[in-house]
Amino acid sequence: MKSFPIFINLIRKPVLVVGGGDVALRKIDMLLRADASITVVASKICKELQHYEKSKKIRVKIKTFDKNDVKQSVLIVAATDNKKVNTLVSMVAQNLNIPVNVVDEPSLCTFTMGSIIDRSPLLIAISSEGNAPVLAKFVREKIEALIPHSFGKLALVMGSMRDVIKGRYETTQSRRIFWENFIDHPLVRQFLNQTKKLTSQQLIALVKNNDMQKKQGEVFLVGGGPGDPDLLTFRALHLMQRADVCVYDKLISKDVLNLVRRDAELIYVGKERDRHTVSQEKINQLLVKLAKKGMRVLRLKGGDPFIFGRGGEEIEMLMENKIPFQVVPGISAANGVASYAGIPLTHRDYAQSCTFVTGHMKDETLKLEWQSLAMPNQTIVIYMGLLALAQICVELIKHGAPKDLPIAVVEQGTTSDQRVITGALSNIAQKVKREKLKSPSLIIIGNVVKLRKKLNWFN
Ligand code: SAH
Repeated sequence: MKSFPIFINLIRKPVLVVGGGDVALRKIDMLLRADASITVVASKICKELQHYEKSKKIRVKIKTFDKNDVKQSVLIVAATDNKKVNTLVSMVAQNLNIPVNVVDEPSLCTFTMGSIIDRSPLLIAISSEGNAPVLAKFVREKIEALIPHSFGKLALVMGSMRDVIKGRYETTQSRRIFWENFIDHPLVRQFLNQTKKLTSQQLIALVKNNDMQKKQGEVFLVGGGPGDPDLLTFRALHLMQRADVCVYDKLISKDVLNLVRRDAELIYVGKERDRHTVSQEKINQLLVKLAKKGMRVLRLKGGDPFIFGRGGEEIEMLMENKIPFQVVPGISAANGVASYAGIPLTHRDYAQSCTFVTGHMKDETLKLEWQSLAMPNQTIVIYMGLLALAQICVELIKHGAPKDLPIAVVEQGTTSDQRVITGALSNIAQKVKREKLKSPSLIIIGNVVKLRKKLNWFN
């Protein structure tokens, strides 16, 4: 560790910034957030800084820098485009042991500011000790995504409760256990996820009622997207990391499953065609049973839970059993697969509407509104339609769709194994048979399929 991270209180403390351009402005904006009392020394200053001066946010001295300017400063930032001046500022500051930062000149700095994630009062700063600021920024973006703004609000509430808790729990260890349980309480989690609006008073009441000791189970019904783990939502990832047990489907890709918390128990309830491993009824009961044991149950489903996902049935049962739950939407196969296949689902010239249909057969037959599906100027997306593909094409043609209407079948869309076969209603079934496409495959029908020739960007 070459530099020691500290958080310094700058409220109303004199800070000197040398330089008046855009770079200085960026630093000044950060320092203003910390309520520093800023003096700018520069030969000229940019428009924004002129506004700041007018509104008395900063003081400005238009002059060349000299050593008398540093007087009483607790911190100095040099952000001029003149190396000589920057070096002089650094030397003067170092002589007086005042911490100094020279923008983009690590060798002239005695402190750096790092990349900041501001969830005040919760603060995270990342440093690469001057080696790779862009990497630090990249890490910041990742953390930024993981920590919702509500964490700052919770930190405030916890701060206001500290004394009460200190009075109630004597040892450091008992207080730590209390706070760990507090953060993990479903209501507090709902507060963090912003699914429940709780006031600080309500959170404090929670503590007073000693609700913390009860372990209450809950279910997260989470859409795992079509396969590529980068298509998960932040909330999905967040809840995947919190689960005690994960109940997942056949559609969940290995890469997505790998992101579930390591210690979570994995229960596979995938359904094979004609071989229902676990019936829907049993899955519903399993979720209730696990939650009643006090577990955080992750119900991870492919795509979006509410699109051909029977998510509605699962939460109906939870509702009846008064088990808390939340639903996290996922990118459905239609969205993900179409994007990665370079096929826009709507287009001003080709399709003004898009219909999602299930191609799942009951007793070897498929009952769909063929008349309306065969109409022009639309896109039809068929889920679970691979086995019925030949029948679908025959019916559409029979009901007036042109034989040469473009159609695509996409296997394992969005993954590195994605395969796309395109053709026309009259020949696609043969092509797909020849290529031995397997499930999961999605069918896209309509003139938008033509666009793939131009727009194919993935593999
Ligand atoms: N709830 C899911 C759909 C479940 S139905 C969603 O919103 O995506 C299962 C069907 O989805 C499969 O038979 C297939 O038609 C389609 N599907 C899901 N993932 C797919 C993928 N990666 N590539 C192609 N089709 C996919």
